Amino acid sequence: MVRAIVGANWGDEGKGKITDMLAENSDIVIRFQGGANAGHTIINNYGKFALHLLPSGACHSHVLNVIGPGVALDIEALLSEIKTLTDRGVPAPKLLISDRAQVLMEYHVAFDCYEEERLGKASFGSTKSGIAPFYGDKYMKIGVQVCQMLDKEILRQRLTNAAKLKNAMLESLYHKPLLDVDALTEKYYALAKQIEPMVGDVAQYLHKAVKEGKRILLEGQLGTLRDPDHGIFPFTTSSSPLAGFGAVGAGLPVTAFEQVIAVTKAYSSCVGAGPFTTELFGDEAEELRKRGGDAGEYGAKTGRPRRVGWFDAVATRYGCMVQGATDCVMTNLDVLGYLDEIKVCVAYEIDGKEVRDFPVTPLLDKAKPVYVTLPGWKQDIRGLTNYADLPEKCRQYVEFIEKEIECPLTMLSNGPKREEIIYRKNA
Ligand code: GDP
Repeated sequence: MVRAIVGANWGDEGKGKITDMLAENSDIVIRFQGGANAGHTIINNYGKFALHLLPSGACHSHVLNVIGPGVALDIEALLSEIKTLTDRGVPAPKLLISDRAQVLMEYHVAFDCYEEERLGKASFGSTKSGIAPFYGDKYMKIGVQVCQMLDKEILRQRLTNAAKLKNAMLESLYHKPLLDVDALTEKYYALAKQIEPMVGDVAQYLHKAVKEGKRILLEGQLGTLRDPDHGIFPFTTSSSPLAGFGAVGAGLPVTAFEQVIAVTKAYSSCVGAGPFTTELFGDEAEELRKRGGDAGEYGAKTGRPRRVGWFDAVATRYGCMVQGATDCVMTNLDVLGYLDEIKVCVAYEIDGKEVRDFPVTPLLDKAKPVYVTLPGWKQDIRGLTNYADLPEKCRQYVEFIEKEIECPLTMLSNGPKREEIIYRKNA
């Protein structure tokens, strides 16, 4: 049985907690895209952890954690993340790394920083983890797969070829120090050797696991609106965070997918640049930012204050549709208990017309939110586990949104801890 957990919006929807909960009932948890550029926050018996590259099953000793070929593998980041866990008493996670995954090199991070510097004010708000240069190289066919890195001569050849192009850019565009192929070869060969015992053929392993009826969970990073094709281009990421891409980025048959769970927040939040129609500013924003999440709305990877806003049903309906969501989970419902009134954006006004379908970026830039105002419930609901125990106005909010997004809200998260969850129908 294959299930996918993915973001319905801009990322940071609280997928980490939900994935960690579902990982408990899974045999295999897979990362299929992205790299160490985002973070999942997980709170369990060992403490609070921000995972960047490790799959969320990392703290469950019965789970095999898989890094699929679609991931940007930053070996140093991975090793240091494993060390952070083991230093704090978590048993070393069981890990299988795809021999076809490509490796994110130190020069990808450098190019990411140089490019942001070059763009100046027009930058996209990159996390400077090297993701865009990495995927650029992958599709330019000048990347290096893990299997190639395990052979020093192949590695040297691949790096020599990449350095020709890279050094031309470093010299004439960025005016920065050139790449040293010998030093890079030594460094990455040594790193590849460190992970060699964990490297294997992921697609073969997963196809067998599907046949054996293993419980497989895919976890997406970021969310629909960051997809390079379907998101708010160019404020997008460089790999697809869609469940559909899970089949490719992991190496699974499309036909094995049974459930796609899209995660959304009870309000909107977004890190980085780009159009954000329901954004709040000033004191209203600051209050929500302070109360949001587990310790305020600040990025798990960057610590940057997140932009916050009212729930955007236009973006979320689209997010669930593109993901092909069978279920939707709403997190952070507890956060809204302080508000007298809560707005929900149900349509956009663009050039004087009301639209309900999420538009392309140039139109999105002109969109104004059309709100419906609902009464707040003015009550602390954290940790309640029965839907019927929620205040009526809170249930009204949930049911209103469920209708708007056209996807069943089967779980409601009302606190950062694992047990702070309400299961509804079909969950
Ligand atoms: P992800 O990237 O989608 O996994 O999002 P994060 O986990 O980084 O961000 C979500 C934040 O919300 C984290 O600080 C979580 O601990 C927190 N969180 C998750 N679910 C809830 C919830 O239901 N209520 C509250 N108050 N915080 C939550």
